[in-house]
Amino acid sequence: MKFLMSLLVAGVLFGVGSASADQLRVVAATNDLAAIADAVGKDLIDLEVVARPDRDPHAIEVRPSTMRKTSKADIYLAVGLSLDMWSPEVVRGSRNRDLVFVDCSVVISPLEIPAGKVDASMGDVHPEGNPHYWLDPENGILLAHLVAGQFATLDPGNSDAFFMNAGEFEKEIRRRMPLWDARLRGQVFLEFHQSWVYLAQRFDMKIAGQIEPLPGIPPSARHLARLSELIQETNIPIAVRDHFHNESPLEFLERETGIKTAVLPSACKEPIAESYLSHFDEVADVLGGESPSANGDSK
Ligand SMILES: [Zn+2]
Repeated sequence: MKFLMSLLVAGVLFGVGSASADQLRVVAATNDLAAIADAVGKDLIDLEVVARPDRDPHAIEVRPSTMRKTSKADIYLAVGLSLDMWSPEVVRGSRNRDLVFVDCSVVISPLEIPAGKVDASMGDVHPEGNPHYWLDPENGILLAHLVAGQFATLDPGNSDAFFMNAGEFEKEIRRRMPLWDARLRGQVFLEFHQSWVYLAQRFDMKIAGQIEPLPGIPPSARHLARLSELIQETNIPIAVRDHFHNESPLEFLERETGIKTAVLPSACKEPIAESYLSHFDEVADVLGGESPSANGDSK
């Protein structure tokens, strides 16, 4: 069986700064959670990330070095909703009894929760609903306030700063939201994996279909033929995939139908606040219309 889950990839920890004694030590499962932690904690925290952004977050192989770093951490930020099934493994392996484990999905409203009993016929990787919730900027706001509350509990002396930083991050998202909305609203696209539903719901976009017939399951020839027909019938303008997805299904559809294809990462590039924000600009560059603030200069 050719489950994408079998494509286990290596997770590595990369530090953003060097820890000082009075900094809160934070380990985040993914770049996006780390970026939000950075927005809230700034230089009051020391931040480490487990998963590289160019790897499939469903399939990270945990290294001993990851556990060693987590053994000294104060708090671990997990994505939850069964995305990072490897996070509990990191925490167990760290043998850090004082570590505060935060499942960040508790503050968001999950989409695509399976009705009834979950079994293998429903795909591999979204048994508790869609876990790619960081792709709605409104969820970014909820996450920032969650993280601020957690940091404040662990480091009460800096609680004012954490809450103020979360408030500023919210203000910045609200400032940029109309710009993203103007470019993304109503756009139509085909996705590889069920990654983009939160973005699509926020900006009233239409996801015309998925390359994977079910999350984590590679497409059959028949599924691709059906997509090819759909593209021709309905003029879907673009199909996108992450770096770590197999490029050949999109190449096939491009050959068959002329559809535009692009790599659109579902994780932000760097574990810093601005990267979380500018990721939505990059998304709009790929999926959206012209930037309303564009002044005609060539890019
Ligand atoms: Zn997924």
